[in-house]
Amino acid sequence: MECKLAVSMMHDYLDDDLPELQQRELKEHLLSCTGCRAKFKELEQTDMLMFSLMHQTPVASEDLVGRIMNSLPKPKKERAFITWIKRHPALTAASVFIFVMLMSSVTFWNQDRQLVVRGTDLDQVVIKGDTVIVPSGKIISGDLTVENGKTQVYGEVNGNVTVIDGSLYQASTAHISGQVKSIDQAVSWLWYKVTNMFSEVAYR
Ligand SMILES: [Zn+2]
Repeated sequence: MECKLAVSMMHDYLDDDLPELQQRELKEHLLSCTGCRAKFKELEQTDMLMFSLMHQTPVASEDLVGRIMNSLPKPKKERAFITWIKRHPALTAASVFIFVMLMSSVTFWNQDRQLVVRGTDLDQVVIKGDTVIVPSGKIISGDLTVENGKTQVYGEVNGNVTVIDGSLYQASTAHISGQVKSIDQAVSWLWYKVTNMFSEVAYR
């Protein structure tokens, strides 16, 4: 007999729900398996304790009941939480799933934070570390896109400046003829993930 089956039989046995033949099989397994024997003793004791607490016969004195109650672990806030988890297994699984997915999303996102500069006339641009500078006097005759970096414009951009996951500084001397767009991809990407996940969960 497998231990898993034995354990489920123990519960039935303690509830007096186990047919005689299976009782014998269970007893045979308990004789040969120390692990299940220990488990059975534990279950039996809990069962007896619960029984004596629920059926307070005159045999169990007030004092004994009090002592047993005192020896039980005090209910904590965590306990309420655990009870809630046990009562809502599907919801809990869903929220754990979402949490794990979010955490892996954030991790995945953080792995890819390399400075990317795209555009025309990139030879006019000065790159210092993660800072992309359009110096004063320089002219870029097209779009400039900077990902994962700081952008500082002192000169002229005759096109659009797009900053993805970075900051943009425009000096008073700066002149940008096109549109200036700042995109926080991490946020929108996460938001997309979250809304997607919630609808996925909802349709299950
Ligand atoms: Zn066993």
